[in-house]
Formats: sequence, structure tokens, C-alpha cells
Amino acid sequence: MRLLLLAPPGAGKGTQGERLAAWSGARHIAAGDLLRAEARADGALGREIAAYQARGDLVPDQIVLDVLTPAVVEAAACGGYILDGFPRTLPQATAAAELAARLGVTLQAVVYLHAPQEVLTRRLLDRASQAGRADDVADVIRHRLRVYAETTGPLVPYYTERGILVAVDADQPPDSVTADIQAALSALPLTRLPTADIE
Ligand code: ADP
Repeated sequence: MRLLLLAPPGAGKGTQGERLAAWSGARHIAAGDLLRAEARADGALGREIAAYQARGDLVPDQIVLDVLTPAVVEAAACGGYILDGFPRTLPQATAAAELAARLGVTLQAVVYLHAPQEVLTRRLLDRASQAGRADDVADVIRHRLRVYAETTGPLVPYYTERGILVAVDADQPPDSVTADIQAALSALPLTRLPTADIE
């Protein structure tokens, strides 16, 4: 399976990405996690990535492509990928599409998880009080949601026009979201879906 989870911060794409990877055998590739790992490494690049993430700004496209491309290529070669948080800008989407077309591993579907702004904000603040990520504080959360709307939002019409976007209501308990995603995917003419588990 080759899937992209497209969603604002707090919609649950990390949770759903892990579940879909376990269900399908494809690899879960979380852009934020890979970039945070890179940010923990010593050196100027790590410090630069950490600074963007702490502010809630997107990491520049070229850095993201350098970090993510090897992971996507490797996953595509062994069972597919569930992309979580990449592509997140139109330039990333066109670069990823060109690479995937060259390798013959283009996206089969984009699952768009949506929820009202106040639900997203409440979830992120709850997570902040439990685990505490540097970017889970009120003003940075507001900024991340604004960046999402301006920069990632245009990917919804982009993938809709390409006929591969399915929208799922993320304002439900995690199990219901998973069930809705699996039902939506089962309705698509995808190859190599684990259909036995859907029915
Ligand atoms: P969330 O979706 O809740 O913001 P992520 O872990 O997906 O959490 O992303 C956290 C941060 O990592 C983003 O605010 C941004 O700084 C960086 N990031 C993640 N994915 C990308 C991407 N595709 N392009 C640019 N920056 C990214």
C-alpha cells in the first residue's frame, strides 16, 4: 500500500499511521519524527531543523526532501509506505510525485483527516500537559495551525483534482477513525490492499 495521511496538527495522523502500517504491512514514515531525530544529531543542520520545529515553522523543502527521500525509496522497495506529514507543501508534493513516478511507486490514495479547529487545539494542549513536546504550547500551536491552513491546505484541492483524495472525519474516537479509513480505502480500486481484513 502507498498512502499519504494529510491532516492538520492534532488530527491523529501519527496514531492512525501506526495502525495502518500494522494493518497493511507498509512502513509508517512520520516526517516530524524523522526531522526531530535529525534535529537531535550534532551539527549545524540539526540546530537549524530544531529551530524551525520549536517555532512551529515548516522546515525548508530541500532539507525535508533530503531527509525523507531515502526513507520513502527504501519503504517503496519493501511493502510500501504510509506517509505521515510529507508532502506538506505544493513544492514537496510535486518533487515527491516526480520521484515516485520515476521509480514507479506513485501514491495510491491520500487520506485527509479533518476536525474542527477547537478540537485540534484542545487535543494538542492535552498532549502538552502529558508528554510535552517543545512545539505544544498555546502560541506555537496557534502558529502551526495557521501554517497548516496556508501552506498544507492547498494540497487538499491538489490531490482532489488527481482523484485520489478520501476525506475522513477525525473528530471521533481513534477506533472509529481507523474503521472509517479502512472502509474508505476498501471502496477504492487499490492493488495489494489487505482486503480480507476489511470485510
Ligand atoms: P504536527 O503535524 O502535529 O505539527 P509533526 O510531528 O508532523 O506534528 O510536525 C512537527 C514539525 O516538524 C512541524 O511543525 C515542522 O516544523 C516539521 N515538519 C514535519 N513535516 C514537515 C514537512 N513535510 N515539511 C516541513 N516541515 C515539516
